[in-house]
Amino acid sequence: MGDCRACGLARGRQNIVFGEGNEAAALMLIGEGPGADEDRQGRPFVGAAGQLLDRILAAVDIRREEVYIANVVKCRPPGNRAPEPAEAAACLPWLFKQVEIVWPSIIVLLGASAFKYLIGGKGSITAARGNWLTTKSGIAVMPTYHPAALLRNPSWKKPVWEDFQKVKERYEAIRHNGLSSEKKAT
Ligand code: URA
Repeated sequence: MGDCRACGLARGRQNIVFGEGNEAAALMLIGEGPGADEDRQGRPFVGAAGQLLDRILAAVDIRREEVYIANVVKCRPPGNRAPEPAEAAACLPWLFKQVEIVWPSIIVLLGASAFKYLIGGKGSITAARGNWLTTKSGIAVMPTYHPAALLRNPSWKKPVWEDFQKVKERYEAIRHNGLSSEKKAT
């Protein structure tokens, strides 16, 4: 991304948080945007929400190194606010390119921003979570709550746990069958 200046978020950043992980991952996780810790380290999900995400992955026996992790915006929004539509629009081509390169079988959308900007969902994340969607190109998509939201609202831990059980089940099926049925069909 070089010294990207495509939106105003560039002015406040310490580091671009591009994303990281297994570039051939079957599972990709997409969050909202870097927080203070991520901005400082240049890595996604390394702060409190990231530690919770690591625990969620561990609970379903998925190693962080197996997956690819990215965000809707790559630079920290001030005060951890949600990205604005113009910021997301400026940054999304990078995320689309990441999806194209990794070409996962499953994408988990972490929170309302990822759901809104990736699926164009006008509905709430509460209504959408837990239900599989499929992209036009055949990638299975599971929207769920953002780990940071769980820190504020512990009663959402159970639904997220249930959503990740579904993800795990599909992930295992893909790993055992080689490719997903969606990919085999195309
Ligand atoms: N929240 C996000 O959405 N992404 C991160 O990388 C960290 C916190």
